[in-house]
Amino acid sequence: QAKAAGRNTYCVYEPQMSEMAALRVELEQSFKRALAENEFELYYQPQQDFETNGIRGVEALLRWKHPSHGYISPADFIPIAEQTGFIVELGEWVLRKACQFIVRMSENGFIPFKVCVNISAMQLTRFDFVDMVFRCLAEEGARPDMLELEITETMLIGSLDSSIEPLLLLKERGIHIALDDFGTGYSSLNYLRKLPINHLKIDKSFVQDIVGNPGEQEIFNSIVDLVHKLKLTVTAEGVETEEQYAFVKQGGCNYLQGYYFCKPITEEAVVLFLKSKKV
Ligand code: C2E
Ligand code: MG
Ligand code: MG
Ligand code: MG
Repeated sequence: QAKAAGRNTYCVYEPQMSEMAALRVELEQSFKRALAENEFELYYQPQQDFETNGIRGVEALLRWKHPSHGYISPADFIPIAEQTGFIVELGEWVLRKACQFIVRMSENGFIPFKVCVNISAMQLTRFDFVDMVFRCLAEEGARPDMLELEITETMLIGSLDSSIEPLLLLKERGIHIALDDFGTGYSSLNYLRKLPINHLKIDKSFVQDIVGNPGEQEIFNSIVDLVHKLKLTVTAEGVETEEQYAFVKQGGCNYLQGYYFCKPITEEAVVLFLKSKKV
């Protein structure tokens, strides 16, 4: 970071920072081993459908069970995996696991059901990304219409135009495309206008400030209305309390994802959760 700041600036170096830098180098060097030793796992967070009160599907969320550091958050290691390029290999592993999960869900009769997978910019703009997705689906025997790929606005900075074609190819095959963390980027409306998407997820920062805050409520409801006018569907992320739940529901939001409904859980727990919610 000091280097990126340029020659004429200086950086206060605290011991904490050098420890973080050391951890970073350590993680960087252990990615390959971690993949080979099965230290990565997928957790799944259910999404509720307001219309049916049932479950729309789940978002697959990566977990790293490190032998000496315990569970490491994806928020900490995904950026490093992106910088080193390892995300390409890791992202393919995630997609394959998600396809295998789709097959087990359909074998269990949980249809319709969406499995949502986060994608990094570096993956999407690779020449072979679309083929890789089709190959994974075909080799695992997974239905394309059960897969939803989540892209974020911030990741597309500088690569908006080159993202459109691969997204269109994926969409043509019935794969759903969702815009994640909506509202946190610099030109959200531009992305909404240009990208071929089916679905939008309103970032949790909007939901967190909503209760007792009329201005925030207006913004939230206006996004929902806009999304519906564009014939897309919308999920509220990060719903934690009953008040937040009640608000996003009255606003006509289609789905919710948040601790209020369910935390990210293991596949076993997902199956139990689905069975317990079945009427
Ligand atoms: P995201 O895609 O926006 O995923 C939602 C995050 O919000 C998850 O954090 C989830 O655990 C958390 N969350 C869900 N409900 C609540 C709630 O009610 N309150 C709060 N405070 N948080 C909630 P997680 O699992 O730590 O993942 C963080 C980010 O890491 C994800 O954000 C996504 O951008 C990235 N990520 C995770 N898995 C993958 C992956 O397989 N590939 C890529 N490229 N990125 C991933
Ligand atoms: Mg996501
Ligand atoms: Mg999100
Ligand atoms: Mg995020």
